[in-house]
Amino acid sequence: MFCYECGAEEENLMDGLCKKCFLKTFSILTIPSEIVVKVCAHCNSKFVSGNWVDPFIAEEEIIYRVIEDNIVLNPIFDSPFDDNLIIDMKILQMRGTIAECFICARALVYDEDISEKHYFNVRLNKDVCPVCSKRNSGYYEAVIQLRADNRQLKDEEIAKVDEIIVKTLDKLFNKDKLAYIAQKATLKEGIDYYVGSLKSAKKLTNKIKEELGGLTNESPRLISEDKSTGKGLYRIWILIRLPSFCKGDFIRFNEKNENKIAQIINISGDKIISIDLNKYDTFKISWKNYNDIELIKEKNQIAKTTVISKSPSNIQILDPINYEAVDIAIDDKNPEKFHNYNIGDEIEVIEIDNILYIL
Ligand SMILES: [Zn+2]
Ligand SMILES: [Zn+2]
Repeated sequence: MFCYECGAEEENLMDGLCKKCFLKTFSILTIPSEIVVKVCAHCNSKFVSGNWVDPFIAEEEIIYRVIEDNIVLNPIFDSPFDDNLIIDMKILQMRGTIAECFICARALVYDEDISEKHYFNVRLNKDVCPVCSKRNSGYYEAVIQLRADNRQLKDEEIAKVDEIIVKTLDKLFNKDKLAYIAQKATLKEGIDYYVGSLKSAKKLTNKIKEELGGLTNESPRLISEDKSTGKGLYRIWILIRLPSFCKGDFIRFNEKNENKIAQIINISGDKIISIDLNKYDTFKISWKNYNDIELIKEKNQIAKTTVISKSPSNIQILDPINYEAVDIAIDDKNPEKFHNYNIGDEIEVIEIDNILYIL
């Protein structure tokens, strides 16, 4: 066989060329000398075939990915991971938004060790993606109004909700680029969270309710009117009202005409768990019966007193308010710890309707 280029005779020709002629024109890869990529100045997502993709990737990483996408490998290699191939890329320096890059490629071709160098630039054209542009303009689709029923929100409740929001948004953000808080407004009646998307606002509300309980209510509000179409522009206000009571507080619960005096032991999205202070059994109240619950004493009104005498059926304690001796009957219904109290022990009591309940 003869090389069609130089006429040399060789046993195995490649593309009709002898080894020398083949290698003369051979290149491992090609890459444009200037690659331009549109990148969002705020979230670093890049614009590829009509879409903004891959936000929150470090600039270097963007550049390396762009380089990979633009390398055209000689077809004799199956992939950039071909065993015979080594490709090293480097960003030599950044000049403003231009990255001066370098690739060194090495390969074993025709039993010859070939290496080649490519110098080229990657230019990052800074722009703003539609999501960041909405975000920067303060765009929101819903407002979560955090309130407490008949009282002020507690600092720890606000802190807890803030924490839930940060955590939940973090998870939602992969799927919903409008999962952000555009604004947090502190009012005297509570906190308003302006949320980028309604979808995320609903998920946040569910999560808050799941952890802190409460009642929710949604209502649309007309915020402006599109002059050209005459159509209204609506946003959704979602009210979440935390209960008037907190864990540890005391309530009167009206159930089937029976008034239960109870202490709240847990609050969650689907129920309120309380302990009946007369029967010492726990029971659940569903949120639809919220209006039958009356807050009567708060946890901080619990008083401490001392056991002054004890018999198998009675504990005598000192009334923490008027210091009179009070007998409290104990029986099998009472928790074990009541039977184990000894004279001199300090115990916690709450006074409700002139009755002292041991806790
Ligand atoms: Zn030749
Ligand atoms: Zn962006």
